[in-house]
Amino acid sequence: MAGAKLVAGNWKMHGTSADLCEIEAIAEAARALNGRVEVALCVPATLIHRASEAFPGFPIGAQDIHMAEKGAHTGDLCAAMLHDAGAVLTIVGHSERRDAHREDDSCVRAKAEAALRSELRVILCVGESDAERGSGRAVEVVCGQLDASLPGGEAAAGAVPDRLAVAYEPIWAIGTGKIPTTGDIAEMHRALRQRLLAAFGEAGRQVRILYGGSVKPANAVEIFAIPDVGGALVGGASLKAADFLPIVEAAAR
Ligand code: PEP
Repeated sequence: MAGAKLVAGNWKMHGTSADLCEIEAIAEAARALNGRVEVALCVPATLIHRASEAFPGFPIGAQDIHMAEKGAHTGDLCAAMLHDAGAVLTIVGHSERRDAHREDDSCVRAKAEAALRSELRVILCVGESDAERGSGRAVEVVCGQLDASLPGGEAAAGAVPDRLAVAYEPIWAIGTGKIPTTGDIAEMHRALRQRLLAAFGEAGRQVRILYGGSVKPANAVEIFAIPDVGGALVGGASLKAADFLPIVEAAAR
């Protein structure tokens, strides 16, 4: 696994220019860590340009992209547009998009490939539902999702491991305050690592596997101590520097 942990915030549909001060505080603290933790914020598309101009060098990301290069897709944004606006990475396959926008694994894979072709880095999300966890099928379901969503072909060649990260995000843990046991997180990350090795050979060992779902200052130290947790994707607790920075500091330990 790559050295420094990656802690990325997902602002979802939150944040206007009034919140640039939060990004500033996070960017300043991240700079002071001198690369001990990689920090990024995936902000609403409306803030990407302003944030990337205001805080040069601090990684600003998108939360989704369209898989096409351009065309008749009203309201959508392609990878090249987001890159042009200043984004250096994007989330793909977040469960809220898989659910509300009916994005299946092949759609997520096409988006990941489009992002990598356009120089963006990718955080690819996978995760099981409450019912899947309850029925004992979580590992099987999540590994199946990963196998079917991983970018392949020319897009992936050369992009793995540095420009691809995977986020394991149990759907039932997102925004609920619930998290899996440390044993369940370790088991899932171990299984995902095997899938990455099968897909990419030795390069798959370096791909960071993030945990996401109700990561807070109070549980971050414990989560980051789990074997093969290469960072976190953080929703609610990334909106305010006061909540997010203790998580970043926990990753630096
Ligand atoms: C997310 O939406 O990616 C997420 C992890 O949210 P939260 O941290 O709020 O559970």
